[in-house]
Amino acid sequence: MSVKNTLPRAFADVFQNGETINVYSYIRFSSKAQSLGFGEVRQLEQLNRFFEQYPLARQVERYEDLGVSAFKGKNLKSGQLAKFVERIKSKEILPNALLLVESFDRISRMGGYDALELIISIIQSDCSIYTLFDNRLYSKRKKDSSVDISLIQNILERANDESKSKSERISDAKARNLTKGENGGIITKRCPFWISFTDGKFVLNEHAKAVKRMTELCFEMGFQSISKELNKEDHPKKYTDSTVGKVLHKHAIYGSFLAMKNDENGNRTIVNKEIKNYYPSVISESEFHRISEKLKERQDPKLAGRKAEEFKNILRGLVFCKCGSTFRYHAQKNYYVDLVCHASTVGQCKYAMPGKGIRHRYARIEEIFLAYQSLIPFHKIIVKNEDIKALEKEHQEIAGQIIIKEKALANNFSILEKSSDSAQKYITNRIDEVSQELDNLKTDEHKLNLKISSMHLATKSDVNVMEVYRLLITEKGRIRINNFLHSQKIKIVITPVKKKFFSLDIYHDDKHIDTIEVTPDGYFARRGLHI
Ligand SMILES: [Zn+2]
Repeated sequence: MSVKNTLPRAFADVFQNGETINVYSYIRFSSKAQSLGFGEVRQLEQLNRFFEQYPLARQVERYEDLGVSAFKGKNLKSGQLAKFVERIKSKEILPNALLLVESFDRISRMGGYDALELIISIIQSDCSIYTLFDNRLYSKRKKDSSVDISLIQNILERANDESKSKSERISDAKARNLTKGENGGIITKRCPFWISFTDGKFVLNEHAKAVKRMTELCFEMGFQSISKELNKEDHPKKYTDSTVGKVLHKHAIYGSFLAMKNDENGNRTIVNKEIKNYYPSVISESEFHRISEKLKERQDPKLAGRKAEEFKNILRGLVFCKCGSTFRYHAQKNYYVDLVCHASTVGQCKYAMPGKGIRHRYARIEEIFLAYQSLIPFHKIIVKNEDIKALEKEHQEIAGQIIIKEKALANNFSILEKSSDSAQKYITNRIDEVSQELDNLKTDEHKLNLKISSMHLATKSDVNVMEVYRLLITEKGRIRINNFLHSQKIKIVITPVKKKFFSLDIYHDDKHIDTIEVTPDGYFARRGLHI
């Protein structure tokens, strides 16, 4: 092989000409058999070829993990790579460092974000990574690393999913047996309490109704209130808040089974392999994701710990000071409640007089808003179920395309190992292409999911305008109004003018609707389109 003096293009971004590259190479073999044979030889050959090609590269150390499986990240905890990462952290590696690996699935097959995080942490600490199998250089010194990161992730995902594509996991009983066989074990007949196993199949039982109720109620109340509500209703069993919480997080509610599987070392570990349509579903998958979003939102410290009292604020999370700050809901001793600009309490609101807070009486703001919003024809803009159905169909099509692309990617990877050098170039290019297409599809899918979710939310919290005043009387009703306003992306911005004079800007779905001028004597809409 001819010795090259100049660095190839990928390296020019990252390493200066004439500069020594300090190489740490990392070889991993997943089994003893592999360490004696083809795998080792291939990796060593690739290493040697690299050093021939890049004379500026100097091997500093070689790490080897023999017989330690990368599956489930075991080599991260116990292997040489863990030591390497520790040494990076304690800054014991030389500058201008390059970690040389065969491929990312050699670093870890645990896949997903944990492995991605590890790889990124190596790159972030200014150690570049070079993957021999596809001749790619990953480095924070590169100008644009977004493509790299999505590619890394795709590769990790593929490695974790092995060659088995999702399309093979079809939902019927035949496929279930197939999966069962492939896992080399029994898929359990055990099922969640709302499902029974009778006459050789899973069926929803008498508890399913309560589970369905939970999925409806969770948009309006917390776990504790849900359990109370359920226990008031006529269900065959009593519920606690913790049961409710657990059930709402269970993939089984949309029919999925998360399979457990033995790893290469014979340890039974959860790999979160999902078998869809394994159980009869109580709700759809998209409904499940929407609920998950809602529950996540609850865990948000900004929204956590709100008491029943605070739910009475129908404008919760919707009102902002012109300075950009949120308002705090501040109960006064005289039973009035004030909205206080948070920034003004720490001297950060530019609309406040020095040393003064920006305060508005909550009841006044609510009154003005309601007088106004009751005339906005919200019912006209609430999407119909047909629209959601059309989008869901689109979503299914994209999901199908994703499965096809993933299968294509898996095929390319399996061909890659057995192919000649020239063929490898082509296949690697194809892998790049397919990865890119897959990325685009996943982005589309994500966007569609969000769209479908928000439409569901709008339908679910649909409020007949005539109902508004009736709803205002009860706490539950007020929560519903608040949900509805959120689903409609209502936003109110208050601009202080002078003492007791201010204006309210009302936005709907990011569009400015009108400005309401408020004086001590009354209020009027500037455009007056709706009043
Ligand atoms: Zn302010």
